[in-house]
Amino acid sequence: MIKILANDGISKSAIDYLQQNGFYISTTHHHQDDLINVINKEEYKVLLVRSATKVRKELIDLCPKLEIIGRGGVGTDNIDVEYAKEKGINVFNTPAASSLSVAELVFSHLFGLVRFLFDSNRKMPLSGDVEFKKLKKSYSIGSELKGKTLGIIGFGRIGQEVAKIAIGIGMNILAHDKYIKNAEVELKFFNDEKKSFNIKTENLNKVLANSDFLTLHIPKIGDQPIISADEIGMMKTGAGIINTSRGGLIDETALMFSLDKGKLSYAGLDVFNNEPNPSTHLLMHDRISLTPHIGAATLEAQERIGKELSDKIIAHFKK
Ligand code: NAD
Repeated sequence: MIKILANDGISKSAIDYLQQNGFYISTTHHHQDDLINVINKEEYKVLLVRSATKVRKELIDLCPKLEIIGRGGVGTDNIDVEYAKEKGINVFNTPAASSLSVAELVFSHLFGLVRFLFDSNRKMPLSGDVEFKKLKKSYSIGSELKGKTLGIIGFGRIGQEVAKIAIGIGMNILAHDKYIKNAEVELKFFNDEKKSFNIKTENLNKVLANSDFLTLHIPKIGDQPIISADEIGMMKTGAGIINTSRGGLIDETALMFSLDKGKLSYAGLDVFNNEPNPSTHLLMHDRISLTPHIGAATLEAQERIGKELSDKIIAHFKK
């Protein structure tokens, strides 16, 4: 029987599906230092990971029976992919499975920002009983998203999902992408009707200057932030910014400065420099809506990830 180790877990439906197809699967998490021994002792042929488990050259060299390394999710920074491939190991990930979940998190932050939910949820438990009217007044200058312009930096899988939701709620969109010149975005409605929009991407400066909100959906390449003080300076006064992409894409110091000075109104962050120990200044800032890197973490995304990994494993061994 072919044995699979899902070291960072996998959905229940994927476990059932793989077992029905004759595989043995363990979801016991083994510490990084024990992994090589466990894989060899138990003769696992498939190692499935998310972001926690590292699959480096040493493991690849010392586990010669491994045939598949599967990553549930987008990035593969935790796997020595090219080295594994050179050794004949089949390496794959599930890049599209969580796009919608990340896109919806962008709007969780956006809807919350424009009505100050992030701040209200902090202050209501502390003083909502005695300072109700004062709090009501301070949150009475909210705004609507409909009719506003959302700038989308990076118009790949997630950027396009974001565009669909934005169009659906009546926002204008301006997209920028280094490589994609235009994209066909299709909205599907409750009654099976469909409507396609061909969106042409624009240069970065135009998007920065004309957006009420900016959302980032590009990979992190190199050490330089794509949004630093200069780019913030080009943005509309009072704009908001969301980063659910990767820590380091925004200069966090410049961001806090611009929030303090009123250049930007608010920010929503799911990703941070120095995760999992982000700056406490950032965490304490009263104009930032915060989530701890949960963009892909929905039940639906985990189901899709499990199904996609399972199908790829089944296809590999049926060859
Ligand atoms: P994708 O590859 O489909 O799209 C990225 C797009 O960015 C591409 O179209 C590419 O051409 C463009 N791009 C690259 N460099 C650029 C630059 N300098 N300027 C402008 N455009 C540039 O990727 P995706 O699936 O949409 O994912 C986007 C990001 O979201 C990734 O960084 C990924 O790590 C992150 N992500 C975060 C979470 C989370 O939990 N918060 C979950 C999934 C993905």
